[in-house]
Amino acid sequence: MSAAPGSSDVVVRFAPSPTGRLHVGNARAALLNFLFARKNGGKFMLRMDDTDDARSTAEFATAIEEDLAWLGLVHDIFARQSERLAAYEAAAEKLKASGRLYPAYESAAELDRRRKRQLARGLPPIYGRAALNLSDDDRFQLELQGRKPHWRFRLDHEHTTFEDMIQGHVEIDGASLSDPVLIREDGRFLYTLPSIVDDIDFAITHVIRGSDHITNTGVQIQIIRALGAEPPAFAHYSLLNGPEGKPLSKRDDAERFSLRALREAGYEAMALNALLARLGTPEPVEPCLSLATLAESFDIARLGRSDIRFDPADLARVNSACLHIMPYETAKPRLAALGCDLGPAFWDAVKPNLVLFADAVDWARIVEGPLEPVIEEADFAAAAAAALPPEPWDLDTWSLWTGAVKEATGRKGKALFMPLRLALTGLTHGPELKNLLPLIGRDRAQARLKGLTA
Ligand code: GLU
Repeated sequence: MSAAPGSSDVVVRFAPSPTGRLHVGNARAALLNFLFARKNGGKFMLRMDDTDDARSTAEFATAIEEDLAWLGLVHDIFARQSERLAAYEAAAEKLKASGRLYPAYESAAELDRRRKRQLARGLPPIYGRAALNLSDDDRFQLELQGRKPHWRFRLDHEHTTFEDMIQGHVEIDGASLSDPVLIREDGRFLYTLPSIVDDIDFAITHVIRGSDHITNTGVQIQIIRALGAEPPAFAHYSLLNGPEGKPLSKRDDAERFSLRALREAGYEAMALNALLARLGTPEPVEPCLSLATLAESFDIARLGRSDIRFDPADLARVNSACLHIMPYETAKPRLAALGCDLGPAFWDAVKPNLVLFADAVDWARIVEGPLEPVIEEADFAAAAAAALPPEPWDLDTWSLWTGAVKEATGRKGKALFMPLRLALTGLTHGPELKNLLPLIGRDRAQARLKGLTA
């Protein structure tokens, strides 16, 4: 069962950087958080991680909101990091005061040279904390030379452990990591501190994100504690790869697997949701028409640790299956918008043959004509035309008619049905003729059997 939003204290967040378009991997991050919130009666927060003002744009932020709205992933809480800088400054001051955030003056080139020397000597390329040995006077001299510090968090060299809801017991050795830079020399915050401060201030209870953040979590837990807070629960799911098994990179796949591209290609948002909710779980992907239904059966602990792939062929299959279960009332306004609302009998007739919703337009054209029939044997078609029963027609008309044609011509099986299909629809495949025939109607059927465009 899922519960009403806000009936528990669960708060989760989806925190994209508005530096590009969302792709299916990002959509999965948003969806897993959303479903977890809905399942647990919690709240879903959308947080724009836009402290990188060189790469973040308002256009991308708007596009992210549009993409999420398309998926139906409505947020309960919203924040923009660029509007919360004062909170991050305050946290930085607190860490400086307790000696956990210290200034370092090495340039990127110096750090790079040191890393290379360490690697050449077979040592791990960990920052050696030279900056911790600088005296006040050293710092004064460096700043006189015009050097500006970046700021590093002094890690405790101990093992940080947490129980991950997907990965199980995780242990990160602080001694194996460089003290992370939290503030750049131009004064801008890197991702880590703002994210932590927001998670604390918005009372995030569960951080659900990709497994590429596991090591960060070890660092983040230390910083959270240094700020006097308790860490939330963590769940790190395995990342979604592309169909070739390679990671979805923003650059290469942003277009191919962007939500905008999938939307424009005509896929149903719910088909994508249904697929993304089940990828990486032992449960089969099932067609589904509502997020509430998906949330009910959602269990984050069912997500596995192995790599998973997004394959557009899977999406096409789920899309088709979602259309098969779509009731006419849901389809009606969309059919009307496409100018092909021919009523419930039409929808029921064609929906098993749709891959994309817009395919309904083609079937409406085939029902309504004008259509050029394909007649291979005029005599047979004429005999079939002569056997057409009088109207009104219903779902029994087809078997009544084909029974009469069989009697009159002695044909059966494919030799009987295929010429009728070709004459009535111009195609060798399609929805069941039992359902289509009453929609085509006697006049059009008769004309087409005579080889006339109708
Ligand atoms: N903006 C971060 C990212 O996109 C958020 C990571 C997190 O969920 O903490 O990687």
